[in-house]
Amino acid sequence: MGSDQSMARGANGARARKITILGSTGSVGVSTLDLLEFAASRGEAEIEIEALTANTNVEALAEQAKKFRPKFVAVADETMGDALRAAVAGLDIETGAGPAAIEEAASRDADWVMAAIVGAAGLKPTLKAAMRGADIALANKECLVCAGDVVTAAIRKAGGALLPVDSEHNAIFQVFDYERPERVSRLILTASGGPFRTWTRDQMVEVTPAQAVAHPNWDMGAKISVDSATMMNKGLELIEAAHLFPVDHEMIEILVHPQSVIHSMVEYVDGSVLAQLGTPDMRTPIASTLAWPDRTPSPSAKLNFAEVAKLTFEAPDLDRFPALRLAREAVRAGGIIPASLNAANEVAVAAFLGGAIKFLDIAAITEQVLDRVGRHNGPASLTTLEEAVNADLQARRMAEEYVASKAAA
Ligand code: NDP
Repeated sequence: MGSDQSMARGANGARARKITILGSTGSVGVSTLDLLEFAASRGEAEIEIEALTANTNVEALAEQAKKFRPKFVAVADETMGDALRAAVAGLDIETGAGPAAIEEAASRDADWVMAAIVGAAGLKPTLKAAMRGADIALANKECLVCAGDVVTAAIRKAGGALLPVDSEHNAIFQVFDYERPERVSRLILTASGGPFRTWTRDQMVEVTPAQAVAHPNWDMGAKISVDSATMMNKGLELIEAAHLFPVDHEMIEILVHPQSVIHSMVEYVDGSVLAQLGTPDMRTPIASTLAWPDRTPSPSAKLNFAEVAKLTFEAPDLDRFPALRLAREAVRAGGIIPASLNAANEVAVAAFLGGAIKFLDIAAITEQVLDRVGRHNGPASLTTLEEAVNADLQARRMAEEYVASKAAA
């Protein structure tokens, strides 16, 4: 478990030139393309795009294809294959449809792959890219939550770099002393607290999807926005951090910092705390992974400290945000439990966004699933992709039952 500097550096050494974006039509995907366009407008190194992928959004994918001329485009939804073919006809771009086509996109020859699919659906394609030694810019935290040991082992074996995109992990990555990890005493993951940071549980009862996706600081996809509102996002990030950094998970703390200026911190044994700061714009961490170990300009706004004026901090409230407690229990239990947590949460978030359950039901259903899977039964090993996939499927089925019974109530 954990990464080290050699894994971060990867065997490839040189800056990436050939790029694939898995999930190019999403929030992180669009920010990545925006950066590539910015680099091109500055006459920087030529970048070739090998593949772009989406789930169903053919229109956006075809627009991107026209502009960026990738060699291959694919949609995960099999039924959209004909529409995609028609939308890029005459552009000399190969197309594919279905989950296997997304894996094909990941398998094609690109040396830097942005893993920005949302949810556990990103696991297999990310693993494909990892296994052939590509440098992985990892936004898709769910794949580390589900099968972190499997993914990090594949990256280590194939020699690519694992470059965290999540702003918190990217911050830690930038200030972590990989030469002396034993000198680290604490990782402090900052959390905005989401839109309901100051709300009581009673106030949260009638939260609508529109309220939950309206994040105060970040503009993100719907699923991660709801995760931020329940604070499950920070729970998933805790598990992600436990896989990314060579420290014990008990050394990772969560701290609410509503301004989202300090993206996370590393404390050393002498009491020094190193932090990375910036405006809440994903183009900064993405640029850092794109140029790593170099730096490249980004169009993101620069920090104006006088305008920010005040940085504040609060301890997280595990009673109002039980998802944080569930994630801590899951990382302690290990084995299949984080995959079960993630799958149950994905099903519950989708049900909430679809209007089938209430906001507080998300964490309640996740807890019911973990109770049934047996999160207090101690560590169970998870060493293969199949175990992760099976745990994911089992938890999904259970969560769907609970959703159905809540919806019927
Ligand atoms: P979005 O929902 O905006 O985009 C998700 C992307 O994945 C889209 O391209 C979507 O296609 C595609 N997709 C969805 N489902 C599938 C599927 N089953 N198979 C293949 N592709 C699929 O998500 P975000 O960009 O917000 O987040 C992406 C990942 O990055 C998440 O894991 C998130 O936690 C992480 N992240 C996001 C941050 C952000 O600022 N947004 C910050 C840090 C991490 P389509 O458009 O067709 O639906």
